[in-house]
Amino acid sequence: MYISSLSLANFRNYTSEKIEFSPYTNVIYGDNAQGKTNILEAVYIFSQGRSHRAKSDKELIKFGEDFSRLSLDFHDSERDYTAAMQLMKNGRKNIKINHVQITKLSKLMNYLNVVMFSPEDLELVKGSPSARRKFIDSSVSQLYPRYLTSLIDYHKALGQKNSLLKVLRAKGAKSDMMLSVWNEQLAAEGEKIIKYRTDFVKLINNFSAAIQNEISGEKLQISYMPGMRASGDDKDSIYEYLEKNQRREIDLASAQVGVQRDDLHITINGSEAKIYGSQGQQRTSALSMKIAQADYIHHIKSEYPILLLDDIMSELDINRRMYLSQKIRDKQVLITSTDTDLIESTDNTKLFKIKNGSVVREE
Ligand code: ATP
Ligand code: MG
Repeated sequence: MYISSLSLANFRNYTSEKIEFSPYTNVIYGDNAQGKTNILEAVYIFSQGRSHRAKSDKELIKFGEDFSRLSLDFHDSERDYTAAMQLMKNGRKNIKINHVQITKLSKLMNYLNVVMFSPEDLELVKGSPSARRKFIDSSVSQLYPRYLTSLIDYHKALGQKNSLLKVLRAKGAKSDMMLSVWNEQLAAEGEKIIKYRTDFVKLINNFSAAIQNEISGEKLQISYMPGMRASGDDKDSIYEYLEKNQRREIDLASAQVGVQRDDLHITINGSEAKIYGSQGQQRTSALSMKIAQADYIHHIKSEYPILLLDDIMSELDINRRMYLSQKIRDKQVLITSTDTDLIESTDNTKLFKIKNGSVVREE
């Protein structure tokens, strides 16, 4: 899959710009704070429906303007797509693909597949469990809209349950019928979420182990660490386990167990990477996991996602840079950098110099 052109109007520091991409490597370079990441962000929004970094869509609209318009042409092995998006100051967002309005985020997700890799992702191994859950969720929901629906429904029910737990603690209650109703919903969605996550982790483990072995000869292993110790993965066992925790959860006035506590257990040569891994080993593992994420999408969909590499080259040593360069040679990549020397150029590489929200040079 590849993107051919992106148009931006009143997006971040861009007033009006149209960029035509190479189907291979695209290097977006320039000084700090000129608008390089803004371009990757614009592409990412078409895949995930929201920015990878903004808290609200309003941040994306150019200062002093009322709306922002973006459009993106992309292609997979079956057909061509034109996606258009309008972001309004009042928070409304309008997305169309091939002129058809997209009403649900879960309907947008499986058109354009991207993998974004930025320096924060190098924390994937040693950072918090939420970063690893985000890694799982963004990979799986791009391919399975039903997973995203379950995740949204789960979190809605969890929010309701947490509000109820606060009320119950204030009342000094020991149990509650309504709590069981939420637990039933959480168990039903939880069962589906666990199934998708289990399948994902098996594949990502295989792919990342092969990549890690190629980069460093180390044995990387990733396994699924569930956020609860239910006797089984079926909804009845999960429900039973959630119910068993009622007292404790009321006492603490918040949900303590469930898939919202899931994590990945990552080992290198048998030792836990978060605790025993060296800085370099942790970064190599994170790199392996992110490349594996792209391999996973390719495996399931038979389309390689677009890679958005934000300032990543300067964070990698020469060996890892070479590995990555060789891996991406025949794929479409958008790479931002302040320094073009770190990026291998081929005949198919296009370079864009960005200055103050404009492409000032293209070669
Ligand atoms: P770095 O090399 O430091 O990562 P960058 O080129 O990737 O820089 P971006 O993050 O793409 O920089 O863009 C940052 C610029 O965009 C800043 O100058 C910022 O002030 C500007 N900017 C961000 N949001 C808006 C907005 N809503 N309206 C206008 N300008 C904005
Ligand atoms: Mg940047």
